[in-house]
Amino acid sequence: MTDPFRLDGQRALVTGANTGIGQAIAISLAERGAHVIAAGRRSSAETVAAIAAAGGSAEDLILDLSRPASDWRLPEDLDILVNNAGIIRRADAVDHAEADWDDVLDVNLKAAFLLSQAFARAAIAAGRGGRIVNIASLLSFQGGIRVPAYTASKHGIAGLTKALANEWAASGIMVNAVAPGYIETNNTAALRADPKRTAEILGRIPAGRWGAASDIGGATAFLCTPAAGYITGAVLNVDGGWLAR
Ligand code: NAP
Repeated sequence: MTDPFRLDGQRALVTGANTGIGQAIAISLAERGAHVIAAGRRSSAETVAAIAAAGGSAEDLILDLSRPASDWRLPEDLDILVNNAGIIRRADAVDHAEADWDDVLDVNLKAAFLLSQAFARAAIAAGRGGRIVNIASLLSFQGGIRVPAYTASKHGIAGLTKALANEWAASGIMVNAVAPGYIETNNTAALRADPKRTAEILGRIPAGRWGAASDIGGATAFLCTPAAGYITGAVLNVDGGWLAR
C-alpha cells in the first residue's frame, strides 16, 4: 500500500535552508523521501550533510533572494517549493528606515511571489501539479511591536497564499502557509536574550514552551504530502496555542 504521508520521488526547493526553520523543513522533507535542494544566500552544506548522514538525498544551492530575480539560477522539474527565507528589522515605526522596509519586503514577500510564479509557470507548462508552502508568522494576524515592515510582509504572505491558491488549484498546484509561533532560532535570539519579553511570551503560550524548528518541519512536510491533497489556501498555525488564547 502506498503511504500517503511519503514524498518519495519528489523534488523540493527550500529557501533559507542553511539554518533554523528552513534547515528543519529540509530535513523533514528528506525524511519523507523527497530529494531536497537546500538553497541559501550562503552554503547549506551542514543541512545537506545532516540529510545524507540520515540516508536522505539533498544538494546545496546558492540563491540570494536580495539579488534581482534575473540573477537567480533556479532548478528545473520541481514538485515542491517552500518559501522560508526571511529577515526582520526592529525599530520604532517613527524611526524605521526606508531601506529596511525595502529589504524586508523584497526578501519576505516579493521573492516569495517571484519564486512561486517561476515554479507555477514551469509546472503548468509541464502539465504537473505541485505544492507551495509559504512560511508566514503570528504577525500574519497580529501587529507586533517595532517590526512594521516584517508585519506588513507577513500579512502579505497570508494574502498571497490565498490569491495564488485560488488561481492555481485547478492546475493541481496547492498553495498553503504555515504560521510559526515563537520558535528557537536566530530570528528570535534578541527576544530570548530579553528576560522580561521571554517571561511575557512564555506566560502566554498554552503549551508552555518555545517551539522547536522541527515542529515547523513536520507541519510543512505534511502539507506537501498526498495526505494533504485537498488542502489549499490555508494558513496553518503551529504556535503551541498562542492564537487560541
Ligand atoms: P533564521 O534562523 O534567521 O533563518 C532565516 C533564513 O533566511 C536563513 O537561512 C537566512 O540566511 C535566510 N535568508 C535571509 N536573507 C536571505 C536572502 N537574501 N536570500 C536567501 N536567504 C536569505 O530565522 P528562522 O526563524 O529560521 O526563520 C525562517 C522563517 O520563519 C522566516 O520567514 C521567518 O520570518 C519565519 N518565522 C520565524 C519565527 C520564529 O519564531 N523563529 C516565527 C514566525 C515566522 P542567513 O543564515 O545567511 O542569514
